[in-house]
Amino acid sequence: MTAEKIRDPEQGERAMIEGIIEGSPDAVGVAVIRLDCGCRKMAAVSISGEPASKIIMYRDQAESICEQCKKDNGDFMRVVEQFISWKEPGPAEEVKKEIWAKVLGTAEERSN
Ligand SMILES: [Zn+2]
Repeated sequence: MTAEKIRDPEQGERAMIEGIIEGSPDAVGVAVIRLDCGCRKMAAVSISGEPASKIIMYRDQAESICEQCKKDNGDFMRVVEQFISWKEPGPAEEVKKEIWAKVLGTAEERSN
C-alpha cells in the first residue's frame, strides 16, 4: 500500500448505507439527505414508506456532526441533495415513486 490515500466521501456514505440496511430488516432502501455543511442524515425506509430505522446523522471522517447541525438538527433549508439508495434489487418503479413521495416529497413542503 502506498501512503497516499485518496478520500472519497461517498465511500463513507456507502458504508453507512450498508450498515443501516444490515441493521434494519424491514428496509427496502435508505433515504440520504446531504446537507450544505457536509453532514448527512440517513434513515432506512420500509416498503410502505415508513421509517424502518431511527434517523442517523453523521459527518464523514468526524466523531460528531458539526455545530450548525447540533443547533438546527440539519434543517431542510440546508439540504443540497436527497435521494434513496435502494437495497438491491429494489421494489418496482411504481412503488419506488410512492415511497419517494412519502419520504422525501413531503420534506420540501415543510421547508418554508
Ligand atoms: Zn453539519
